[in-house]
Amino acid sequence: MKLNLNIQPLSSWITATKEPLLISGPCSAETEDQLVATAHLLKNTGRVTALRAGIWKPRTRPGEFEGIGSIGLEWLKRAKAETGLPTAVEVATAKHVEEALAAGVDILWVGARSTANPFTVQEIADALKGHDVPVMVKNPVNPDISLWIGAIERINNAGITKLAAIHRGFSSYEKSAFRNEPMWDIAIHLKTLAPHLPIICDPSHISGNRDLIGYVSQKALDLDMQGLMIESHIDPSVAWTDAKQQVTPAALSDLIDHLTLRKPDTNNAQVNDKLAELRNNIDKIDDLLIQKIAERMKIAEQIGTYKKENNITILQVNRWDEILNKRVNYGKALKLSPDFTEKLLELLHTESIRRQTEIMNEGQAAGQQAEKLTHV
Ligand code: PEP
Ligand code: MN
Repeated sequence: MKLNLNIQPLSSWITATKEPLLISGPCSAETEDQLVATAHLLKNTGRVTALRAGIWKPRTRPGEFEGIGSIGLEWLKRAKAETGLPTAVEVATAKHVEEALAAGVDILWVGARSTANPFTVQEIADALKGHDVPVMVKNPVNPDISLWIGAIERINNAGITKLAAIHRGFSSYEKSAFRNEPMWDIAIHLKTLAPHLPIICDPSHISGNRDLIGYVSQKALDLDMQGLMIESHIDPSVAWTDAKQQVTPAALSDLIDHLTLRKPDTNNAQVNDKLAELRNNIDKIDDLLIQKIAERMKIAEQIGTYKKENNITILQVNRWDEILNKRVNYGKALKLSPDFTEKLLELLHTESIRRQTEIMNEGQAAGQQAEKLTHV
């Protein structure tokens, strides 16, 4: 089901100076000189459309730099007056919203830690009522699309129609090369639920280090995200927050120069014909897959009936291990990643077991009802 959001197009509140749309600036405003000098260098790249800076910083541990506070708003005013760049800050309380709006900040964003807390989001939404300011909502720290959607809906219900989502990756227990796992499928899911909601990618917080930012940015553009928010600092080596992931304005410019801009479609008839042919082939295979999966389920049900008649348990771990090992190896030979084959088989197996359980427990209405509820 699509989300019922009342949203104005991105172009109604921000126009990219140059493609791709780029919002950049330091993780934190530290000093007036640092902010204003960074803003000038960013403006001079000719690439940047808006200046970001954290004034109030949500820190995971107390004692870390918690942001310069309201004085930073004065610095942002000066940076905007001198460069002409519209400004963006993170807001986490009603007071932040009021102060930022009073200081003429152009765009507000809700940070990942705030999105994870509906009380905070509602407080921000209430403070926004009656204001016509663009708001960007970062995904929550944890991989929960409902929290992300909930925050977007709360802000939208407050009358904010100049809305965008920011994809900044998700916290994960397993350590990887990324500071925050991109989990692109969650951003894609949001896009399918709300096709008109612009999504901006924040490769800085996904990457956590400078080296991955180009790769993540390219992937975001290839997934048709509408823009990038990248942290930039005049001298990242001495940055007070997120030093490892910030880039100088010159490095930012170079990074953007190396991105390839692709279009979602083309007018070239030959290319379109070829694409249509390939998509047609995919559709045929998908139909076959569904048909075969339905056949597989029918057989699983027959096995269920047979096991019931002969008092055999549904799950036989040895048999499952055998299916898994054989198919994962077969998949490997056909260039399917073991991880993919395993996930696919597990999905099929869970559904087979659910059906067999239904057959085993026929007549036990309460249990069946409970199984159904856990499988919605
Ligand atoms: C930030 O943008 O500097 C920030 C704190 O980001 P996030 O809310 O994504 O952690
Ligand atoms: Mn940061």
